[in-house]
Amino acid sequence: MQLSNQDLSQIDEDELLNLPEEELRYLSIKLLNDLKEARERLSQNSRNSSRPPSSEAPWDKAATDNTNDQEQTEIDKSAETEDTVTPPSPSKKDQQQSADPNNEHQEPRKPGKQPGAQGFGRTQKLAITHYQDHYPEICACCHQTLEPRHAIAYAAYETINVEWGDVEHPGILVTHTKHTLYEVVCANGHITRKEVSRSSHAQLPGISRTEWRLVGPGLAAMIVCLAYRMRLSRERIQEFYMTG
Ligand SMILES: [Zn+2]
Repeated sequence: MQLSNQDLSQIDEDELLNLPEEELRYLSIKLLNDLKEARERLSQNSRNSSRPPSSEAPWDKAATDNTNDQEQTEIDKSAETEDTVTPPSPSKKDQQQSADPNNEHQEPRKPGKQPGAQGFGRTQKLAITHYQDHYPEICACCHQTLEPRHAIAYAAYETINVEWGDVEHPGILVTHTKHTLYEVVCANGHITRKEVSRSSHAQLPGISRTEWRLVGPGLAAMIVCLAYRMRLSRERIQEFYMTG
């Protein structure tokens, strides 16, 4: 999706009538692409397409296929502690309730452990080693270039990663990076947020890969290696990191 729910909420009929022609062209391309993608997704389940029920992911069978960006974020957050064996169903209701970004009065879903969920909290707090700021460059609605100096931070997340050294700096380095996401208002008054990058795979509808993870790519690769190449149990892997 090229336009987020927040972008869409800022566009109405008056807005379209008043936009200059060039900006309207850019916006209409995004609207067209999103509409095509949304229709493709609509047709991608066994109930209304030729796909057999067995081709559907188990988590899609019970629920309706109405995931949107916000809901996906909630799923991503709840999946952050990958050792947690949390069934998605108990918090499903919460996710759907918090899926509407237009509702200002709604209490936001608190980050971290949800009531009733089995928790595996971080037992140690590492110092931040790096800071990374992420700014939107172009207005999502009218394609204007945005000025980072007008940016306001709206969200942040932390990533722990291992990075491999090179000949000059051998060994491995543990990094703890704080990522801050910013929003910027354009001259037409649209607010554009820098979103984390997401991607999905055709074989896994409804599942997206995202940068919004506590476990960074290097650390994730190492865990996978320990689990599947070295065949260590989750307990052994935990022991390795606790004593390492
Ligand atoms: Zn704009």
